[in-house]
Amino acid sequence: MQQKIRCPFCLEKFSLEIYPEDGDNQDLTYDCEICCHPIDIGAHWNEDLQKFTLDIRRSTGFSE
Ligand SMILES: [Zn+2]
Repeated sequence: MQQKIRCPFCLEKFSLEIYPEDGDNQDLTYDCEICCHPIDIGAHWNEDLQKFTLDIRRSTGFSE
């Protein structure tokens, strides 16, 4: 399913594809489509909202 996120580096919004069949709690790393910085994303399924809530962090694996 598509969910919108905002990049913590460039603050641009873009869509991310998340696969519910991969589990209710997922840790993803996704490169921003605009600035290409790696973003750590914790996705947690919210049964009430029927979508993932996203915990977005700057990936610590990246050095400027
Ligand atoms: Zn970005």
